[in-house]
Amino acid sequence: MDYFSVKGTHDIFGEEALLYDQIEMVLKGATDLYGFNYVEIPTLEYTELFTRTSGESSDVVRKEMYTFLDKGGRSVSLRPELTAGIVRCVINNKLYANQDFPLKLYSLGPAFRYERPQQGRYRQFLQFSVETIGLDSYLQDVEVISLGYRSLQMLGFDHVSLKINSLGDEISRENYKKALVDFFKGHIDHMCEDCKERLTLNPLRILDCKVKEDQEIVAKAPKMSDYLTEESKSRFRSTLSMLDMLEIPYEVDDSLVRGLDYYSHVIFEFHYTSSLLKNYGAIGAGGHYDHLVSSLGGPELVGVGYAFGIERLASVISDDKLMGNIEAKSDFYVMSVGEDTIDNAFEIAEYLRSLGYRSDVCLEKKSMGNMFKKALRRGAKYAIIIGEEEVKNSKVLIKDLLSQEQNEVSIDSLQEYVDKLFK
Ligand code: AMP
Repeated sequence: MDYFSVKGTHDIFGEEALLYDQIEMVLKGATDLYGFNYVEIPTLEYTELFTRTSGESSDVVRKEMYTFLDKGGRSVSLRPELTAGIVRCVINNKLYANQDFPLKLYSLGPAFRYERPQQGRYRQFLQFSVETIGLDSYLQDVEVISLGYRSLQMLGFDHVSLKINSLGDEISRENYKKALVDFFKGHIDHMCEDCKERLTLNPLRILDCKVKEDQEIVAKAPKMSDYLTEESKSRFRSTLSMLDMLEIPYEVDDSLVRGLDYYSHVIFEFHYTSSLLKNYGAIGAGGHYDHLVSSLGGPELVGVGYAFGIERLASVISDDKLMGNIEAKSDFYVMSVGEDTIDNAFEIAEYLRSLGYRSDVCLEKKSMGNMFKKALRRGAKYAIIIGEEEVKNSKVLIKDLLSQEQNEVSIDSLQEYVDKLFK
């Protein structure tokens, strides 16, 4: 019998794995610049966490969650996103207790959605999620958007399109929902079954419908901006002018509503069309939330955050070669020649590692030619060669694999020599 990976999941290895590693390092570096701290949260949560936060009527909860009863008969789900888990972690562990706001947290790991697998859409994918909690200011919202934008710049994305909209406060949304119900009542008989359900569950979601005929109707629907309260309008204006000041380009997209229930005020998505004109959907998305923390039993604290999809970032970066060639790199490849010198080579490699140098060692007897090829394949900068003669004289040969220059170095001065090479 052959074993295959589950539909919609994928293995990541070789160059792709290096790219993922690199992307994660850059994203972590960016959050570090903005003062964020890492939190590690479980992949498995009680199902109510997501029905409560994403909303019973969201596509994620209705159709896409991996939900099952555990052996104790409790309903648990593989997380479809990380925000709910991060907020639960904040509440359970009272991370808000010392009132040092905003909390700035990030997490990284797999999320699961039972969606139709297609380009840029998997059933298990990696999310890099960023949340700030406890400070209610449009500036806090902008700081988070700016972090997202700068992270993409650091990854080499030069023409990101930032779509942005405001869902306003609760009053704005209630008024808008009423207007949508009035409008769609006259059209709903001609719309898809999902939209019929959405009309009663949450009419905002109709705006997200992907059915072409429905989209034509949606285009004529009332616009959110006409239903924002004065306060919400003014907050959104301040958000946009701050983005202008920071020279972060954006496009106000009136049809942007986002699929989850917890958003209010600013919501946004990052898009990028690669030179191959492949559309991977949003590469990242997020927004502000007013009542998510309190809806899970925590204090009334607002938050704002976003998530990047690592697979989508990696696809775009590969298509457009945004990060150049990423290769496995090693500083030294240690090889032994002659009889009984493998142990010495092993010792040298361990010594170099103890000094902080990435070192590999050939542990089998091979011809010099083969060992040099291996050294190059592993991206080593230098080969270290040790034979009987070298062991006898407490020396090694160090060869620069690029310039081919070779030097004899005594073991006593090895550290000094290699430190100079890497200065
Ligand atoms: P969302 O939680 O739906 O706002 O998603 C945040 C980000 O996660 C998106 O912008 C995508 O980059 C990524 N993402 C969401 N769903 C998938 C999926 N099925 N496969 C791959 N990436 C995804």
